[in-house]
Amino acid sequence: MAAELCQYCGADLDETPPGREQGWLYGVECSACPPGRRRSQVLARRERVAALSCPDCGALLSPAEEHPDVLVVKEMIYEVCAACGARCGVASVRRLRDLSNGTM
Ligand SMILES: [Zn+2]
Ligand SMILES: [Zn+2]
Repeated sequence: MAAELCQYCGADLDETPPGREQGWLYGVECSACPPGRRRSQVLARRERVAALSCPDCGALLSPAEEHPDVLVVKEMIYEVCAACGARCGVASVRRLRDLSNGTM
């Protein structure tokens, strides 16, 4: 559901309908990181990717959509404010993979 006002610039989104932009979110819990530093991270990508690398230790997670450390893969459609260019909302979310039991 679209917000009526852009939360960033206050533009009226009914008068100036936002554009759409696709993005991908990958929820990652890297098993190569030392246990004390291991954490869940959400990596955003503009396009669907074949491989990810852990931002902490650099481990290669490939294939991105089948690697056991990649818990969540989501295709996002963002609404982009025509006035300020910020992502002001989410038009739709498609979960391609979810091993996180809904925690991500
Ligand atoms: Zn705006
Ligand atoms: Zn790591």
